[in-house]
This record gives sequence, structure tokens and C-alpha cells, in this order.
Amino acid sequence: MESISKNLAALQEKIPSHVKIIAISKNHPAEKIELAYQAGQVCFGENKVQELVLKQEAISHDIEWHMVGHLQTNKVKFIIPFVHLIHAVDRFKLLKKINQEAAKHGRVIPCLLQMHVAKEESKFGLNEEGLKEILHSREFWQMENIQVSGLMGMATFTEDEKTVRGEFSGLKRLFDGIKSEFFNEKDYFRELSMGMSSDFPIAIEEGSTMVRIGSAIFGERIYNQ
Ligand SMILES: *Cc1c(COP(=O)(O)O)cnc(C)c1O
Repeated sequence: MESISKNLAALQEKIPSHVKIIAISKNHPAEKIELAYQAGQVCFGENKVQELVLKQEAISHDIEWHMVGHLQTNKVKFIIPFVHLIHAVDRFKLLKKINQEAAKHGRVIPCLLQMHVAKEESKFGLNEEGLKEILHSREFWQMENIQVSGLMGMATFTEDEKTVRGEFSGLKRLFDGIKSEFFNEKDYFRELSMGMSSDFPIAIEEGSTMVRIGSAIFGERIYNQ
């Protein structure tokens, strides 16, 4: 278990300080989060609502909880009271639901819009047209209880570095274009969540501001418990 603090220290060596590390603790017990917290890690991410809620209840430290996985609209209400950032908002309907639930709690919830950049069909996300449709709508700019802080994306799962780099650089280009077209004087649009254990060095070279790292911190996940 000492390896968690070693893994974190090794990552901090490699990752520049302007890039935030989100420790993805899914499928790992709360005790491991505790150890990472003791080692100085404060941002943690989960991809399932139930697991996120259980861990948030079990751990009393002032952790920044990130929701990084696909989110169903009927589960939004469970995370609204405490979530710090929702990474994978992939449809307008979900954004509207977050806005509605956040209003009940008097909160403004930072969100990232997830873009589909990978080759795999299975990965969620908006295409450029869908993104612009949201940003061109009057309703989007009238929502007072969400704030779009940037974009998120996942690259194709492949050994081919050129493919991965091309997807990340494409996402960065889109981010820059969207920022200047829609968020010019709004400094809150500044996060680009891209990069996981296997591809974060490339993501950082291509302009990532947040990396979501699981196995390189906590070790391999065991799914059959
Ligand atoms: C699991 C997960 C990660 C972390 O994956 P690792 O390969 O273990 O670093 C990052 N982002 C999302 C959305 C995930 O579901």
C-alpha cells in the first residue's frame, strides 16, 4: 500500500504543476483513497454514481469529488449536493437536468462537455455539430446553475501513438476555437480534461489541463469482487 504514495510522487515528478491530477478510484476501496489523501492527493474521481455517493459518505475529508463517467439524468440529483466537477456531459438534456437540480440546492455546478474523439463507437460524446448546437442556443446561455468550464475527451485505446496524439491535438484545436468563438471574455472556460494512465504524457504535450489517472496510482482494478 506504500506504493500509492510512491506512485503519486512519481507522477508529480512527471506532471507539470499547471496540470491537475484527478485520482480515479473506481473499483478500489475507500481505504486506498484514504492513503492517497494522506499522501496529499485531494481530487478524486469516480465513474458510477452509486460508488461515488457511498465513498463521499464514507470519507469525511474535504475531498474534491469529480464525476468522470457516463451519467444518467435520473441519477443527477444524488451527486448535486457535493460534486466538484462533472466531466462527461455528452448531451443537452443532461446539462438541463444538472441545471435544474443544481438550482434546488442553490449551486452552480462546473461541467465539462464530453467530445467524441476516439475511433471506437462505444465511447460517448458530442460531435462538433452537436456541441455548437448547444452553444448557439439561447437556452444554454440562460442557464444559471451550470458553468461550462471546458471540454473532456478520451482517445482511442491503441498502442499507436500517432492516432492518440492526433485525437488529443484535434480536441485541443477544437477547444481553442470554441473558446474564442463562444467564451472569449469568460475566463472560466479553461479546462481540457484529457489523458489517462496509458496516454497522459501525450495528452499533456497536446495541451491537457487535467489528467484522470487510475491504475498508475492505485494499481490494476479487480472487477470480480
Ligand atoms: C477509469 C477511467 C479513467 C482512468 O483510467 P486508468 O487507465 O486506470 O488511468 C479515466 N477516465 C475515465 C472516464 C475512466 O472511466
